[in-house]
Amino acid sequence: MTQATQTVGFIGLGQMGRPMVENLGRAGFPVLAFDLDARALAEAATLPKVSAAESAAELAKRAATVVLMLPDSRIVDRLLWDDGFAARLARGTLLIDMGSSNPMNTRENARRLASLGVALVDAPVSGGVKRAVSASLAIMIGGEAEPVARAMPVLSALGKTLIHVGGSGSGHAIKALNNYVSAAGLAAVCEALDAAQRFGIDPSVANRVFDASTGKNNTTENKVEAFMLSGRFDSGFALALMRKDLQTALSLMDGVDASKGLAERCVQLWEGADQALGKGADHTAFYRYAREGGQPAG
Ligand code: NAD
Repeated sequence: MTQATQTVGFIGLGQMGRPMVENLGRAGFPVLAFDLDARALAEAATLPKVSAAESAAELAKRAATVVLMLPDSRIVDRLLWDDGFAARLARGTLLIDMGSSNPMNTRENARRLASLGVALVDAPVSGGVKRAVSASLAIMIGGEAEPVARAMPVLSALGKTLIHVGGSGSGHAIKALNNYVSAAGLAAVCEALDAAQRFGIDPSVANRVFDASTGKNNTTENKVEAFMLSGRFDSGFALALMRKDLQTALSLMDGVDASKGLAERCVQLWEGADQALGKGADHTAFYRYAREGGQPAG
């Protein structure tokens, strides 16, 4: 059986998972998908080469490679250990956690799964829904060389820049740190745009200047016009998920005794925005929070 004819199990068909299963199908992988949300599952099952599993337990029995694209480590851990998913996986199964999980949980999960004969690779992604759709995600990989090599055909169908960062958990560690850098940059742009406008400068003109100057970043390039000044606030990445990533980054920094003055402030700001904007807010709505004089929580 060639790699592309082996069934890939895929759990988590949200903003990112949905286009990712579509791309796996396009690359020739039969996909057995599952999500607790029946509508998301039924919709994914209409895609070429994608079929719906009745349960995570059924998927565990039928797939030799399983991808998880779930919100956070709490949900991953509950699935693996409380719901009995890990115990149902056959020895030799490759499990790839592509969500932005906590690296400490990932290391512990890799150790526990290894004792069941299951290899865990952490392979979180960056690039948002847009690059999930175009199969051009950046993928940062943690794990031993052999399972990482086995994961490559699946990962290559989803991303363009694949970087093997190091041992188990290092993909998740660098993902959290990347999102800290991204969130700090986004917050700086929002505050600067607000100040520019209060000074009498059109924020669209201000962003054109940043984007042509040394203030350029992913927010000035891809988010300000499309999602903030347009008033759409619908990039597809929830503010609550960014807050979770920042908290992960800060606990990692704490754990290794790194300097973190800006990170602490950044976490406070994003916690304040999450509380003020409420459930369901997109992370680009941080701009609204900044314009309303956002204050750190607590
Ligand atoms: P999402 O909330 O849109 O999707 C998560 C999906 O998981 C939902 O469909 C939900 O029903 C399903 N789910 C939750 N618990 C489940 C369970 N126990 N069993 C089966 N299905 C379950 O989230 P998303 O935006 O797709 O993000 C997924 C992961 O990717 C997160 O860790 C996020 O931080 C990360 N990420 C997101 C983006 C983005 O732009 N959205 C970018 C990079 C990384």
